[in-house]
Amino acid sequence: MKNTINLPIEIVIATRNSGKMDEMSEMLSNSAYKPLSLEQVRVVEEVEETGTTFKENAILKAETYGKLAGRLTLADDSGIEVDALGGLPGIYSARYGGDGKNDHDRNRLLLSNLNGIAEDELTARFRCAVALWNPIDDTVVTFEGKIEGRITRNAKGRNGFGYDPLFFFPEKNRTLAELTSQEKESVSHRGEAMRKAITYMKENIFSLLED
Ligand code: IMP
Repeated sequence: MKNTINLPIEIVIATRNSGKMDEMSEMLSNSAYKPLSLEQVRVVEEVEETGTTFKENAILKAETYGKLAGRLTLADDSGIEVDALGGLPGIYSARYGGDGKNDHDRNRLLLSNLNGIAEDELTARFRCAVALWNPIDDTVVTFEGKIEGRITRNAKGRNGFGYDPLFFFPEKNRTLAELTSQEKESVSHRGEAMRKAITYMKENIFSLLED
């Protein structure tokens, strides 16, 4: 039986982080998908991130929020790994230093924890896992991306969010916070994971609906 597909297809972006929401929505503009926030689908519950990897946490968020919303749902779990800190803050990036801290406080804490480390040992990367939960067959697929760079003690730029002002990207000779949103999307961990997700959605979601 052929179903009629109403375009655009609504998709929940399961995050309360406005930086992520903006970047993921922008990547879905000019696609067959219309992004909806958790507020728009009236999901007020919070998912506890109990996973031990970005991928596990992304799956947890996509499945839980997806089932609460009853719609196609994308969730992102991401963070920054600093080699001199043994890969921390990693999956704890949003909670680095505990509750009650903002991005500025977390950036200061990161720099203070790197006191005394030589410049050439400040290598770091952002990682992102994006999970897509499909309400039609209750399945989740994941996509990953990363970007390599280093921490600069000289925070720069006003774009982006989170640790962007501290993340120097050698190929552009600027921090991520100095890039435009389009420039960041073309090189970032989230851009890479989202491009893979969008390609998958183009190739699979329509055909599933048409079965
Ligand atoms: P999550 O909500 O547990 O995935 O936490 C992600 C956290 O990692 C964010 O709150 C930021 O602190 C950091 N992060 C992830 N992606 C980025 C990025 O693109 N730029 C800057 N910080 C990021």
